[in-house]
Amino acid sequence: MTFNECLRSARERLAETETPYLDALVLLSHATGVGKERLLANLNEEIPRVTAAIYDELLQRRLAGEPVSYIRNRKEFWGLDFYVDKRVLVPRPDTEVMVEEALRLIDRSSSPLKIHDACTGSGCIAVALKHERPEIEISVSDISEQALEVADFNARSLLGAPLASCVSDLLADLSERYDLITCNPPYVEHAYVEGLLAKSWPEPILALDGGKEGYDLIPRILSQGLDRLESNGYLMIEASPQLVPRITDDMDSCGYTAVRRIEDLAGRPRIALGRKGNA
Ligand code: GLN
Repeated sequence: MTFNECLRSARERLAETETPYLDALVLLSHATGVGKERLLANLNEEIPRVTAAIYDELLQRRLAGEPVSYIRNRKEFWGLDFYVDKRVLVPRPDTEVMVEEALRLIDRSSSPLKIHDACTGSGCIAVALKHERPEIEISVSDISEQALEVADFNARSLLGAPLASCVSDLLADLSERYDLITCNPPYVEHAYVEGLLAKSWPEPILALDGGKEGYDLIPRILSQGLDRLESNGYLMIEASPQLVPRITDDMDSCGYTAVRRIEDLAGRPRIALGRKGNA
């Protein structure tokens, strides 16, 4: 069987999934160890029988609902290749907006910032920031010890050194103060999460379930933020476009200043940003 024949039949098998051809190609590249571009340039090459069997297994896992990122144990974020498995949420491209905005704040500051990334999961935000601006001091936390193991692995492999980390329920168990706190908390509505559970969604539900309206954890983060930020320190929270306006309203009414919403590439509000005043 040629690569081309493999891809065609895989695309048909994956027809019910969101991106059949891309998944078929990425998994073929994973099974063969041959880059996507080289595969496409050599479509008439024969696939070894053993590799075809491996490819078949990967397709079966994809058909059973496992995301390609978990099958490959890889997800690209901010141009970096993160290790992922079922202990962490797969990084989403939307979260790159958080990295961009944090870099803007870092670059506007005259002194190196002390930063904390809460609910860090795979560590994608913190590792991307440290990779871009090695001079920053950045630590991470998560309520899941297992997630911190993955974040630690990513820091060591992508940065060559670990990041300071601790288990913390949101910001409750942190003891220091920071110039910037980034946080991508669970913010998915519980009813939606139940639907995910019903279809055995493989991502950690702990990282997704934000309670009835997805908003359960936000008020705590806002009040804990005032406690854990230096004067003029910034809090940056990712949430759904429905929730971000509510977060910025609450930031306004609970003592944050310079409150702003930051939009994702599709023009939807995805990040709430506020500064702790001097008072
Ligand atoms: N962006 C994720 C999703 O839409 C949710 C991430 C989160 O709850 N932090 O599935």
